[in-house]
Amino acid sequence: APLVGNLIGEDHVNYVLMYNMLTGIRTGVSRCQAKVKRPLTEEDFSARHKYSFDIVGNELTPSAKYDFKFKDYAPWVFRYLREDIFHLDPADYLLSLTAKYILSELGSPGKSGSFFYFSRDYKYIIKTIRHSEHKFLLKILKKYYAYVKENPHTLLSRFYGLHRVKLPRGRKIHFVIMNNLFPAHKDIHETYDLKGSTVGREYPEERAAKNPRAVLKDLNWIKRGKRLELGPEKRALLTEQVRRDEEFLRSIHVMDYSLLVGIHHLERGNKENVRRNTLKVFSPNLPETRRTKTSQSGSQSPEAIALRRAMRTSDPKRLGKNTIRLPESDTGDRDRQEFVFYQDEGGLRATDDRNEELGVIYYLGVIDILTPWGALKKAEGFWKGLGDDRHKISPVPPDEYAERFFAFIKAIMRGSDGLEKFLP
Ligand code: ATP
Ligand code: CA
Ligand code: CA
Repeated sequence: APLVGNLIGEDHVNYVLMYNMLTGIRTGVSRCQAKVKRPLTEEDFSARHKYSFDIVGNELTPSAKYDFKFKDYAPWVFRYLREDIFHLDPADYLLSLTAKYILSELGSPGKSGSFFYFSRDYKYIIKTIRHSEHKFLLKILKKYYAYVKENPHTLLSRFYGLHRVKLPRGRKIHFVIMNNLFPAHKDIHETYDLKGSTVGREYPEERAAKNPRAVLKDLNWIKRGKRLELGPEKRALLTEQVRRDEEFLRSIHVMDYSLLVGIHHLERGNKENVRRNTLKVFSPNLPETRRTKTSQSGSQSPEAIALRRAMRTSDPKRLGKNTIRLPESDTGDRDRQEFVFYQDEGGLRATDDRNEELGVIYYLGVIDILTPWGALKKAEGFWKGLGDDRHKISPVPPDEYAERFFAFIKAIMRGSDGLEKFLP
């Protein structure tokens, strides 16, 4: 079941990995955060910081329960992404991903073998990624940064950190931290992962009836006659943003990404509340590092200093503010800028033709954007293409993929008539 993870306790197979990831993030992020902000440089994009953890600890790394190595990639770039572009509160970020909190694991929902972990407050997702995806993100990081800086309302995955954990026997695990598109406090009643491809893109309806949290696909959307109910104003904004995002994805030659759509029906409310109940029964018991544990108030450990500093710089006015206007254009006022498509309780409220609100909130984002059109996909495209319409299968070249994806998104806003040409 998507989005309801298993909580990870000490007896969990991935407990050590998760402990190491969190300890590494805490150390790396607070080290960078503790420094006085300075402008980004060219070198920041290729910077790497290595940390070696053991039970003793040293001036760079606090003592940890296990021996492992941690690598932090382009920490300053991600600091800028978090703070200046995506407006995360620095203290909030550290507290969500670190301290005593244990994450819940979503397992491996995709075919890729990636694992997903939620931060305890459900705001962030850690996704383990392939080495090839990791290298690819580093390769495009400058372009990505430039793009999201110019397009803060982007629907693309928001990357907040890129790291690697190396376990003693040499296994390297790469992972990114990104936004969870779905809110902690609202039930998602329907979920769709849409690619604009229809071949094999159907979740069996009989199974969907029994599992309300199933991730449905393009054919389910079409056959159910769904449409994104958005009035002219929101539709225009979304179309324009998707057009730009698609242009960017085309420019970095990726494919296989999807539009993730979570739907919350206001009249159904939050009865199911599965996530909240799961989180309630869970008692956090991840041990803190020894240094943090022994240091009480007045601690001079680098992380304690960074955390205090982060707390000071956080702007309380920014918290809890969720009413915004649709901006006519980029005002350049970065501090007060909010995010159009996440403005209504973290999502986008459905509207009718007169821009009046309807009883649905959409949670939208373009995810899984790190797959370049490589040899693997070419091979897959070849095999799948033998029996089916080559243009309707999932692995097609980036330009064709982007075009079809954009056309599909425009069609799902219009409704079922526009969608017919996508049927196999
Ligand atoms: P594959 O390559 O087989 O598609 P993957 O391992 O790369 O799979 P993703 O496509 O990134 O995984 O995500 C799989 C599912 O996890 C999505 O369909 C969605 O349900 C959930 N998911 C992924 N990213 C997010 C996110 N940012 N917010 C909420 N849910 C997400
Ligand atoms: Ca995917
Ligand atoms: Ca993938």
